[in-house]
Amino acid sequence: MSATTPFPDDATRSTHEVTNQPPPLGGADGPYNAFTSDRALQDAVAREGGDWGADRLSAFGAIAGDSLFDTGRLANENPPTLRAFDRYGHRLDEVEFHPAWHESMRLAKENGLHSLTWTNDRPGAQVVRSALAYLHNQFEAGSMCPITMTHACVPALRRQPDVAEQWLPGILANAYDPHCRPADRKTGLTIGMGMTEKQGGSDVRANTTQAVAIDRKGPGEAYRLTGHKWFFSAPMCDGFLVLGQTDQGLSCFLLPKWTPEGERNRIEIQRLKDKLGDKSNASSEVEFRGAFGWMIGEPGRGVPTILDMVAQTRLDCVLGSAGLMRQSLVQALHHCAYREAFGGRLIDKPLMQNVLADLSLESEAAVALALRLARAFEAGARGDESEQQLARLAMPVAKYWVCKRTPATVNEAQECMGGAGYVEESILPRLYRQAPLNSIWEGSGNVQCLDVLRVLSRDRDCFDTLRLQLHAARGLNEEYDAHIERLDRAMTDTASLEVRARSVTADIALALQASLLLQAESSVVAQAFCRSRLNGQGPVAFGTLPADVDLQALVDRAMPH
Ligand SMILES: Cc1cc2nc3c(=O)[nH]c(=O)nc-3n(C[C@H](O)[C@H](O)[C@H](O)COP(=O)(O)OP(=O)(O)OC[C@H]3O[C@@H](n4cnc5c(N)ncnc54)[C@H](O)[C@@H]3O)c2cc1C
Repeated sequence: MSATTPFPDDATRSTHEVTNQPPPLGGADGPYNAFTSDRALQDAVAREGGDWGADRLSAFGAIAGDSLFDTGRLANENPPTLRAFDRYGHRLDEVEFHPAWHESMRLAKENGLHSLTWTNDRPGAQVVRSALAYLHNQFEAGSMCPITMTHACVPALRRQPDVAEQWLPGILANAYDPHCRPADRKTGLTIGMGMTEKQGGSDVRANTTQAVAIDRKGPGEAYRLTGHKWFFSAPMCDGFLVLGQTDQGLSCFLLPKWTPEGERNRIEIQRLKDKLGDKSNASSEVEFRGAFGWMIGEPGRGVPTILDMVAQTRLDCVLGSAGLMRQSLVQALHHCAYREAFGGRLIDKPLMQNVLADLSLESEAAVALALRLARAFEAGARGDESEQQLARLAMPVAKYWVCKRTPATVNEAQECMGGAGYVEESILPRLYRQAPLNSIWEGSGNVQCLDVLRVLSRDRDCFDTLRLQLHAARGLNEEYDAHIERLDRAMTDTASLEVRARSVTADIALALQASLLLQAESSVVAQAFCRSRLNGQGPVAFGTLPADVDLQALVDRAMPH
């Protein structure tokens, strides 16, 4: 050793060999096709009438499991920043994003995640679009916020045909244009939504934002809005559907980012929210200082108008949560297939197999329900009344249950990966931080359950349609039949129904999921689901499937081969 060498030779040699670590899955280092490796998704897409979209889904699945995986990581490691002013002190109210965000948005828009439902007449279009959204959500959930809102605004905007005629071509264009400039100078538009105020979010009737007609009052007319929104996601969008009070009651407005005169609209961004997750996406607080907007729909009918949009965003919450479940499961399965402990692969250990099999049941049931709902939405919009009724009741049911199950599912998947699931280099911490959001926004859990009670008490047709759907699967499984009987009693017993709203809603969700799985291809999934979820014991920890369930078959089915 020379006198100038600071370390002994040994220090330059490696201290150990890296073994017993799985190869990467996802991204340039470990690309995989998130569609063709997902049996549950493929089966659900086919069942709900979207099998004609398989090539498109396969192409997007390949992008998702490859470049979108890396793009999603970068977009979340480099969150957006607010540029409230320019260097000379003029208001800008712009948000600056990392190029990875723009790339995620470009991928989503160019693949029609915001438009396919409305631009393709083929039955199953919304199912295919929903499957695309489910795939995107697994890798970059933040950008799905503006994509979801842009997709969801269409039925609400169509209530105002003159405004829709101006805006829909840009909204439905499969082009992403990140520039902050007037809508008529852009190749593609995005839309946000503003309801929540400080004094009341769930109860939007408490909104204080005031809207005053500039000249004439009524649908399509121009108003000035003064007030605030406490949560206002994606404030860089080109337009926003917003609720405001008029002298004729709470009404819906479209506020453009730029006024028709080509000036920045007076929507001032106060600050960006510092959130638990959803890091790539910007959520803000805004003030309207006489902001310009057109009334959408009838005055005083703001809530029903914007609910056309909210119903669609709620569906995306279910799809998003199902996507988070799937990606966490995929990573857990992959990890356990390679990692060895105590002399064997984790995936072969009976107790780990039980956990993985149980997670796969949860994931498959979630995507089955989400895509069934997508079909109900689409068929309902085409005039099928019973599908409309099913969607009306099943929507809050699914929003409550699937979103509620997601944090627990993602956390269990994290645990399958041990310490590796808790560190930022794996995608799991990001999925975990994102997981609670879908059950909070677009109407939190209790609000969904109360909505279920509202439908049950006021809309007999929805109730009957649900029973018809559930009864179609009777006789296929004993636990299922017993569950349906218990559920019938629980729904018709009106005493203390509000206190029991969560358990009734969860039981409807489980019944719906079971009915779909029982009528689907894989009987091992359906039977295991019924035995573990419909045994009257309520939810228990994952990994508690009965010992004689075919765990290997469940794990094999879920594995991203
Ligand atoms: C990251 C993020 C982004 C968001 N982006 C937007 C956006 O872009 N636009 C927008 O308009 N909003 C947005 N929101 C707001 C979101 O939709 C609301 O936070 C949500 O609807 C709940 O409203 P709140 O926060 O006012 O809670 P509250 O209405 O105060 O509710 C608090 C809790 O009480 C429960 N509750 C309410 N009423 C009852 C009752 N009668 N019985 C029992 N329980 C009840 C609710 O379920 C909830 O759990 C965003 C929220 C987040 C976290």
